[in-house]
Amino acid sequence: MHLSKSLYTRGLQCQKSLWLKKYNKDVLTPPDASAEAIFEKGNEVGELACKLFPDGRKVPYEGTTFDEKLALTQEWMDEGVKNIYEASFSYEGIFIMVDILHINDDGSVEIYEVKSSTEVKDVYLHDASIQHYVLRGLGHKVRSTNIVHINNKYVREDALEIEKLFSIVDVTHEVEELQYNIPAHLGEFAKVLLDKEHEPLIDIGTHCTNPYACDAMEYCWKHIPDYSIFDISRLRADKKFTFYAKGIISFEQIEDVYAFSTSQQVQIISELEQKEIINKEAIKAFLETLSYPIYHLDFETFQQAVPEWRGISPFMQIPFQYSLHIEQEDGGLEHREFLAKEGEDPRYELAKKLVADIPTNATVLAYNMGFEKGVIRKLAAMFPAFSEHLLAIHDNVKDLMTPFASKDYYVPAMKGSYSIKYVLPALVPEMAKAYKELDGVQNGGEAMQTFARLSKMEDKAEVQRLRVALLEYCKLDTLAMVRVLDKLKESVR
Ligand code: SF4
Repeated sequence: MHLSKSLYTRGLQCQKSLWLKKYNKDVLTPPDASAEAIFEKGNEVGELACKLFPDGRKVPYEGTTFDEKLALTQEWMDEGVKNIYEASFSYEGIFIMVDILHINDDGSVEIYEVKSSTEVKDVYLHDASIQHYVLRGLGHKVRSTNIVHINNKYVREDALEIEKLFSIVDVTHEVEELQYNIPAHLGEFAKVLLDKEHEPLIDIGTHCTNPYACDAMEYCWKHIPDYSIFDISRLRADKKFTFYAKGIISFEQIEDVYAFSTSQQVQIISELEQKEIINKEAIKAFLETLSYPIYHLDFETFQQAVPEWRGISPFMQIPFQYSLHIEQEDGGLEHREFLAKEGEDPRYELAKKLVADIPTNATVLAYNMGFEKGVIRKLAAMFPAFSEHLLAIHDNVKDLMTPFASKDYYVPAMKGSYSIKYVLPALVPEMAKAYKELDGVQNGGEAMQTFARLSKMEDKAEVQRLRVALLEYCKLDTLAMVRVLDKLKESVR
C-alpha cells in the first residue's frame, strides 16, 4: 500500500473516497477556481512560515522523484542542516512531507505543520499524527509536533511581524493519543485498497461534508433529487440522515409536517401545495420603516491571509468597491459607485467617497445588513475624521432580507433559503439571467478573487477589462435590490 498524508486523512473521512481517489478518479469533481485560490494562498502562507525557522533548505516538489526527495532529506540531516522545509520520509508505504522539520543539536526533531486557517481543527491533528507516526517509526526522537496557524488577532503595524502573524500550538499530547489507532486505520485502508474491482459499499452520510465537502458527492449523491429533505432549512444534518435511513427523501414522503419548526413548515407546505406565502401586514410594516430617497448599498470585499497594509488583520473583510442606487419615491434612480485602485489600501478613499455619497439622515438599504454594517463600523474605527458620519450611516441601515428571513414573503422557488441567490431568481428571474450574461465577474467570490489578482497582472488592457467587469457586477447587485423592493411593494398593493 502507498499512501500520502492527504490520502490518510481522506481515508479517515471515508474509505470509499480513498478507494475512488486511487481507482476511479474520473468520478471526482476537480477543484474549482475558489479551491485553487485557497490552495495558492496556502502555499504563500507556507512559504512565509518557513521564515520562522530561517536558513533552512527546501526539498523541491517539482522535478524530483519520491526517492530523490527522501535521499535529499537524509543527506541534509546527515550534513547537520537544522531546518528542512518539505522534509520527506517514507515508512510502511506511507509517504509524508513535513512542512518544516527542525532538527535539534541532540538529533531529536520537531514537526511543524503549517495551516493557513486561524485555529487548530481536529483534522489537522490527524494530519500531524501520521507525520509523527512515520518519524517515530523510522526511529527519530520526536521532541514535539506543532501546528502553525494564522493569528487572526494580529493587526499589522508598518512592518510585517512574522512571529506575531503566526501562532504555534504544541499538539504533541493530542497527537500521541492518536498514535494507538493508526495501525488499525492503516490495516483497514490496506484491506479496502486490496480489492481494485469493487468499490466499498458505503452509503452517503454526515461524513460526506465533514470535515470537508467530499469531491465524490456528484457521484455518490446521484440518487438524491435536486430538491429534497436535505434542503430543509435549519434542519440538523443528523436529523436529515435519520429521515434518509427511513427511506424519506422527497417532500411528498414526509408523514408529519407538524413535527417541523414553523419556518420549516412554511417551506414544506409551500412546496407540497406549490403556494406563495405572503404576509401583507408584515411586509407593509417593513416598508413603512423605509423613507425616500432609499440608498441601496452593496460592498465588495476581499481578504488577505498575510496583511499587506497597516491596520489590517488576517482574513479581515477589506472593502474595495461599492455600488449605490439612490431611489426616489417617484421611481427615479441615480447610480453612484466606487472601485479602488488595485495594489493600494482601498479603505481611506472608499470611506471618503462613501460619506460624500450618503448623507447622515437617509435610509440605507442592504441585503443581509450585518455584513455592510460590520464593514462600516470597521471603517469608522479606522478613520476618526469620518467616524461620526459613518456611524450615522451605520445606524440608518435597514435590511432588505428581513421579510424573506422571517418567511413573510415565501415562494416555492426560494427553496427554503432567503439568500439573495435564491430570492432574486424566484422574484425577478430576468435579473438572475442578467448575472449569467455578465462577462468576467458573475458573483461575489469571483469579484473578490478578481480584485485580489489585479495588482499582480501585467496586461493593462486586461486589468481595465476586469475593472469594468467588477463595476458591472456590483452595479447589478444594487439594481437587483431595487427590483426586489419593487416586488415587495407590488405584493401589498
Ligand atoms: S460522497 Fe460521501 S460516501 Fe461518497 S465517497 Fe465521499 S464521503 Fe464517501
